[in-house]
Amino acid sequence: MLLKNMLPYQLADCVQSGNPLLIPAGCVETHGPHMAIGHDTIIVEEICHLIAERTDCAIAPSFDYGPTGYALGGPEDGTIDPDYDSFGRYVKSILKNFITMGFKKTYVIIMHQGMEAPLALAFKKAAAELTFESTLAAGFSPGWWGREEDMKKAGNVWGRIEVHPMILATASPPAGGDHAGYNETSFLIATRPELVQQDQLDGNAPWYCRQSESHNSWTANKKHGQEMVDAVVDTWIRKINDERA
Ligand SMILES: [Zn+2]
Repeated sequence: MLLKNMLPYQLADCVQSGNPLLIPAGCVETHGPHMAIGHDTIIVEEICHLIAERTDCAIAPSFDYGPTGYALGGPEDGTIDPDYDSFGRYVKSILKNFITMGFKKTYVIIMHQGMEAPLALAFKKAAAELTFESTLAAGFSPGWWGREEDMKKAGNVWGRIEVHPMILATASPPAGGDHAGYNETSFLIATRPELVQQDQLDGNAPWYCRQSESHNSWTANKKHGQEMVDAVVDTWIRKINDERA
C-alpha cells in the first residue's frame, strides 16, 4: 500500500506487522526521443506496485530528483541535476523520519547509474550515518557496539536501511540495464506502454539507442520487457520474504 494513502492506524498496523518500506529513488533524465524522461523513477514505482500485490509492504513517495551529472544532456533535453549536498541532506532527513516511524526494514530501490554513483551513495551514506546516530539517540551510551546487553536491546541496527539496484544479481539474465536502449525501453513498454513512442526514433537518435544491430531501442519489445519484469519482481519477493522480521 502507498504510504501516503495510509491512515494512522494502517501505518501503525503496517509497522507493527514488521512489513518493510520500499523507497523508489530515481531522477529526471532524458531517455532519447522515444521515452518518458522520468523512466528511472517510473520503472521502480511500477516494480514496487507489482511487489506490493504479492507481499505486504509499504511504498514511500518517490525521490524523483536524484543526481544525474548531466551526463546525457542538460535541462533543455529534459534532464535535472540537483545540488548534491542539498540532496544528500534531504535524503538523510527523510530517512531519519522513516526510522522514527518504526520501520525495521527499508529498501531503497534504484534503476539509475550504478551503486557507486551519487544517487546510490547519497542513500548509502545517509543510512550508514543514521545507523550510528539513531543508536546514540535511542539512549545507548558510547561503547555500545559489542556490549552484549546493549546489542540485545538494540536489535539488528545494521541493515535497517538497505540500498539496492532494482535488478538484483539473481534476476540477471534475463533482466539487464542500459540507457533507454533495448532493456529500458522494453521495461517501459511492458509496464507503461503509453510512455513509449518508438516511432519518434530516427537517424538522429543518440548513441545509447543503438547498442547493437539486433538489440536496440527500435527492437525493444513487450515480451522481453515482461520477462525482465517477472524476474525482477520474483527476486524481490524472495528477498523480502526471506528477510521479513
Ligand atoms: Zn534510465
